Amino acid sequence: MALGISSTRTDSALTIRELLASGERSYSFEFMAPKTAKGERTLWNAIRRIEAVGPTFVSVTYGAGGSSREGTVRATERIATDTTLTPVGHLTAVNHSVAELRNIIGQYAGAGIRNMLALRGDPPGDPLGEWVPHPQGVTYAAELVELIKESGDFCVGVAAYPEMHPRSTDWDTDVRHFVNKCRAGADYAITQMFFYADDYLRLRDRVAAASCDTPIIPEIMPVTNVRQIERFAQLSNATFPPELAERILSVKDDPAAVRSIGIEYATELCSRLMAEDIPGLHFITLNHSTATLEIYENLGLHQRS
Ligand code: FAD
Repeated sequence: MALGISSTRTDSALTIRELLASGERSYSFEFMAPKTAKGERTLWNAIRRIEAVGPTFVSVTYGAGGSSREGTVRATERIATDTTLTPVGHLTAVNHSVAELRNIIGQYAGAGIRNMLALRGDPPGDPLGEWVPHPQGVTYAAELVELIKESGDFCVGVAAYPEMHPRSTDWDTDVRHFVNKCRAGADYAITQMFFYADDYLRLRDRVAAASCDTPIIPEIMPVTNVRQIERFAQLSNATFPPELAERILSVKDDPAAVRSIGIEYATELCSRLMAEDIPGLHFITLNHSTATLEIYENLGLHQRS
């Protein structure tokens, strides 16, 4: 059933689907919803600095890492109304009925948001715990894609996993489910973070071999401190390169040296990916703009502004 939600946006910004179809690369940045007033100031500092380089889009994760969902919608709405940036609205199926999901989709649309990222989300507390769908909700991201598409003229993205989703038992099934999300209407995908370009390239080949040409944007997370070595693996299941861990640990008492190694590694990863036919790059900022902007500059992308 079409809800006929229409966007109030009056400018002619392209959707991510339209931009990628034109052959342009997308460069984007991801934030988290703030939990405190101080966090809010840090977030907005980062948003303003990133606004200055004119990225394709920015997004705010939905209810991840203990942040509130209302905080996500509020921050995303504010980006739409108070900045020149194009926001992508993250939405997960966790603990939401279809009626609630429709309501949030309507809120995003009301702020003029046309680009969304449809995610199943993880059980609160334990990402690998039992997934219990809301009795009036949806079970998989593919259903959320359908719901958003039925609700109005949205461009919808989905998640992709260069090292396979942790709940998947084999690659064939994982890729089949990914392709189902695309067939359900997904216009683009963004990957989970990863550290080896070959993992991304193999995923892309597998998806192409399944006759799916949905653009898959690689997600990049620079390591900027020693604690992140363990934290990243916990959060994302991504294999942390032992050689990178060794280099970082060898200078662990020198935070500036650690950060510089992390930025250098991420820059090299991006360069390697850009030598391939990638549709763009999506940077995780952890609400601090400086490391990702340094990589952006190292890659010669600053002239976009
Ligand atoms: P799905 O595509 O539904 O897949 C989940 C699992 O189910 C996979 O193993 C898949 O193979 C399997 N599956 C799919 N369909 C079927 C089927 N029909 N039958 C059986 N099995 C099936 N989480 C948040 O909470 N908030 C965020 O803002 C957020 N942002 C993210 C952004 C990106 C770029 C990425 C990569 C992830 C993000 N996540 C976020 C994490 C995401 O919610 C989790 O990785 C979650 O475990 C899976 O979400 P999904 O949308 O990929 O799920």
